Amino acid sequence: MEKIKMTTPLVEMDGDEMTRILWKMIKEELLEPFVDLKTEYYDLGLEHRNETNDQVTVDASNATKKYGVAVKCATITPNAARVKEYDLKEMWKSPNGTIRAILDGTVFRAPIIVKGIEPYVKTWKKPITLARHAYGDVYKATEMQIPGPGKCELVYTAEDGTETRALVHNFKGAGVVQGQHNLDDSIESFAKSCFQYALDTKQDLWFATKDTISKKYDHHFKDVFADMYENEYKEKFEEAGITYFYTLIDDAVARVVKSEGGFIWACKNYDGDVMSDLVATAFGSLAMMTSVLVSPHGYWEYEAAHGTVQRHYYKHLKGEETSTNSMATIFAWSGALRKRGELDNLPELAAFADKLEKASIQTIEDGKMTKDLALITSLENVEVLSSLDFIKAVRATLEAM
Ligand code: NAP
Ligand code: MG
Repeated sequence: MEKIKMTTPLVEMDGDEMTRILWKMIKEELLEPFVDLKTEYYDLGLEHRNETNDQVTVDASNATKKYGVAVKCATITPNAARVKEYDLKEMWKSPNGTIRAILDGTVFRAPIIVKGIEPYVKTWKKPITLARHAYGDVYKATEMQIPGPGKCELVYTAEDGTETRALVHNFKGAGVVQGQHNLDDSIESFAKSCFQYALDTKQDLWFATKDTISKKYDHHFKDVFADMYENEYKEKFEEAGITYFYTLIDDAVARVVKSEGGFIWACKNYDGDVMSDLVATAFGSLAMMTSVLVSPHGYWEYEAAHGTVQRHYYKHLKGEETSTNSMATIFAWSGALRKRGELDNLPELAAFADKLEKASIQTIEDGKMTKDLALITSLENVEVLSSLDFIKAVRATLEAM
């Protein structure tokens, strides 16, 4: 069989620990036998980030700007323990933070749905994709403890020196205060990424804030989305047969639970933080959550939502057998290959990505899965496979297709 050709390289960002082991297995078993894989390789493993003073992360991000599509393995975000473990020159920043700052995007997370892993919410039949705004609000807030009686104000000093003031509170006793901000540029690029991704995936878009209470701050988010929809996306959405829907956050939460799924839920930063964990858990497993960073400038970076699965890696190092779920990492590759196929007009490559996903899902539905899924599945008589044997089982299903 002749291998499927690629014309433009994918930016490949390798990573750490157990996911680095899975990465190699996926390439060898599921990709290289079928695709004449063309990638520009960047090693974002912690050792190499340390050797290059993290320049490799910047280089990989810039390569993504050049080629448009990247696939990323999970990476360690160093903390004090990691600095010691890897003898790091410094506590390097989160690679995902660096990449996001350079590509300026929104992260969309969606669960992989398989029969036998039932969502806790009975009505959910299709994935719910959660889009979280990743800048500002409470994450960049300034806070102060108020020790006793006194007046607290917001003061904006324009460049010409003119001041605008607003009373926060006339304190009669002790209390706390917080100042939040956001930027039009950031809200606009968030909105744009959401509208684009909805069109791209042909799903309805929901957005919700608390604009009835936050009449300036949250209302501004609502207005930015509404204006952009009216001016740039209304006709495109109508043509695609999808809708944009705005509601209050509490109403959205109730509707999400009663829905069938199959839409994108755009959330402000804090709502997205909280709701993405809720949605991921309710769908059954973190190991089945995909993630893609979509930049409003037209770059895509695909990865798994989970981390490097450190606990399994230490077992692997001790020579023990692991049963780590590779689904989300396989789907990172399939997502990236499909996007490359679409952009380069290579229908065979996109079709391969579809098949790879089908084969992976089929394998689980046939009762072959890793331990994390075996613990929660409603299927009976399942076969619990090791990390490598699961990937080999997917290959067998793929070859049979
Ligand atoms: P984690 O790697 O997501 O794993 C936490 C636990 O979730 C695992 O111990 C395992 O549970 C379960 N799990 C996650 N993925 C799984 C999979 N594919 N198959 C089976 N079980 C899975 O989170 P962590 O241990 O908190 O973080 C480890 C490292 O990952 C950290 O250094 C962190 O900085 C990094 N991280 C990176 C990213 C990223 O690159 N995007 C995201 C998050 C975290 P059991 O142990 O019970 O089996
Ligand atoms: Mg969180």
